[in-house]
Amino acid sequence: MKAEEGAIVSLAEISEIVELADVAEMATLTTALPEADRPSGRRHPLPRRQEPDRERAVAAVAELLHALGRDTTDVNLRETPRRVADAFIEMLTPREFAMTTFPNDEGYDELVVVRDIPFHSLCEHHLLPFQGVAHVGYLPGERILGLSKLARTVEHFARNLQVQERLTRQTADWLQTQLAPRGVGVVIEAEHLCMSLRGAKSSGSRTRTMTLLGAVKEDRRTREEFFTLCGLPA
Ligand code: ZN
Repeated sequence: MKAEEGAIVSLAEISEIVELADVAEMATLTTALPEADRPSGRRHPLPRRQEPDRERAVAAVAELLHALGRDTTDVNLRETPRRVADAFIEMLTPREFAMTTFPNDEGYDELVVVRDIPFHSLCEHHLLPFQGVAHVGYLPGERILGLSKLARTVEHFARNLQVQERLTRQTADWLQTQLAPRGVGVVIEAEHLCMSLRGAKSSGSRTRTMTLLGAVKEDRRTREEFFTLCGLPA
């Protein structure tokens, strides 16, 4: 009898320990899980791109050097095709990230703006870099997203063959589609090496593009506030 009672107590204790362990494990899991797998998080898939063919890119860079009258057997140029191919692949490959939105439980209804997000991209006309800063803001509706995700969204679209106008538009449109906010504003200021090194040779000049949607476009007070928060003249 005593042993049985002992056994019952032990079982109860065990089940209690198991329950506690379950709770602890769940807590750890909730923190460790990617944001999108948390109950309230919603993951938004980013557009996919074709994988680069590295060997082909290396051969193509070697061919370009030959066409430019350079000798790729030269000790100084031997590794250049590989290095150039890898550099381009890196510049054109966005880092993976989970784009996750959450319910706007606190009902936050003022602008959220992240300014001076540094980025670099490649001009699709000359394959030369353009780089600068992006200011991204939105007026939340039903859902919000982590602040760092605004920067990652810019980076995702920047690591591609681009023109600045499209980069601005794609960033704004994607946030509008995925987040359904009441307004979106994206301003990009960049210097283009294809302008400063060749052609017009306008070194130091910056191009500014912007896309304003919803209340950031339509409502004068919101628009002015957005520009002020971006550090731009309203
Ligand atoms: Zn260009």
